[in-house]
Amino acid sequence: MKGEMKREISPLEVAIQQLDIAAEMLNLEPGICMVLKKPKRSLIVSVPIKRDNGEIEVYTGFRVQHNDARGPYKGGIRYHPDITLEEVTALAMWMTWKCAVVEIPYGGAKGGVKCNPKELSMNELERLTRRYTTMILNIIGPYQDVPAPDVYTDAQTMAWIMDTYSQIKGYMVPEVVTGKPLYLEGSEGREAATARGLVYCVNEAAKYLGMRLKGATVAVQGFGKVGWNAARFLYNQGLKIIGVSDSKGGVYNPDGINPYKLRKHKLETGSVIDFEGCKNITNKELLELECDILIPAAIENQITERNADNINAKMVAEGANGPTTPEASRILTERGIFVIPDILANAGGVTVSYFEWVQNLHREHWSEEEVNRKLKAKMVKGFRDVYNMARKHETDMRTSALMLAVDRVAKALISLGLWP
Ligand code: NAD
Repeated sequence: MKGEMKREISPLEVAIQQLDIAAEMLNLEPGICMVLKKPKRSLIVSVPIKRDNGEIEVYTGFRVQHNDARGPYKGGIRYHPDITLEEVTALAMWMTWKCAVVEIPYGGAKGGVKCNPKELSMNELERLTRRYTTMILNIIGPYQDVPAPDVYTDAQTMAWIMDTYSQIKGYMVPEVVTGKPLYLEGSEGREAATARGLVYCVNEAAKYLGMRLKGATVAVQGFGKVGWNAARFLYNQGLKIIGVSDSKGGVYNPDGINPYKLRKHKLETGSVIDFEGCKNITNKELLELECDILIPAAIENQITERNADNINAKMVAEGANGPTTPEASRILTERGIFVIPDILANAGGVTVSYFEWVQNLHREHWSEEEVNRKLKAKMVKGFRDVYNMARKHETDMRTSALMLAVDRVAKALISLGLWP
């Protein structure tokens, strides 16, 4: 309402609203919907570490296991100053749906530590990671819950988790985490898998929409693992990257930006801003740029009812988790903007994580070509399943993806029954 400040909707409220929408469309038994609204287990831990200056600091860590009806829990670990139990719970629920959409045999989980990793040295990050791992050790494991990297965690973080877990077990257990370095049983193609999967979806979508991709313009919010790789894959395919942003702001050049040069600039200066030949813009302006494809690849709640009317893209491919609120989603659909929802668009990461786990369990190492071929098959099948469901039920891609996922998880839950 005009003049009235509306409270921003939280990611968990978003996740629950989405579940309600899918449950209604599916005519889901209310009891099953109630089960799916709550995580099976939430763990809050305190993580004390000694800072480099000798002082003790205590951080708060979380691991939320949403549902494991379809397989072991799976989900990333995030280090962020604003993280909350609610946010981690929403992210865990989205993991459950994501694994179901691309039909990989996992449930959903998420974890994190409330901290500012930019203020911690490598030694401090190692102590934090190892202490956090020992605090969640009893509920993780190769057949129980398999963590992975997320915002501000990486292959090194996973190596520390693997080592801590293995030291306590007394033998090496690489399959306890995914997203590990290549020389520590990581998978070929994992680092760029999320972006690669997103690009497979964009290509499928373009086929169905009759959109010409060569020369199409792209704006990318977030220039981390997902944003940077998506930008370079699309650039290499002949699309024109006209805007990129990170947490400090964005840059715009209607003639196109070379993502490789921009990456070098970010590594040297710490941000994409002030890149030569570009105009500095805000994140708000980046999201509202006139372009063919907008890729939110940063954090949640970026496209809301406040800016959904100003989104000027023909297609939105959600690299980030939960970048669009349900109200904004409704507005985008009404405006005819084609949205590839997060639980489909960014499922490539967990898919290759699953491939890494399978390789570890079998003590195998697949070639990058094999990984990418299998990833493409999963993503294309996932896209087509969601697209066909959307057409059958005359609904948008997000509702359809959620319906597909919730239905698959609900069927598993119903067959398993309640025991004891
Ligand atoms: P990352 O840490 O590598 O990069 C995050 C990027 O977002 C950075 O460039 C950062 O500067 C930027 N950013 C942070 N806050 C911002 C803000 N307020 N405005 C604009 N930019 C901001 O993380 P990532 O792995 O690329 O993850 C990005 C998103 O993709 C997250 O939502 C994550 O959950 C999701 N995701 C990642 C993966 C994966 O495999 N890495 C898989 C699925 C989903």
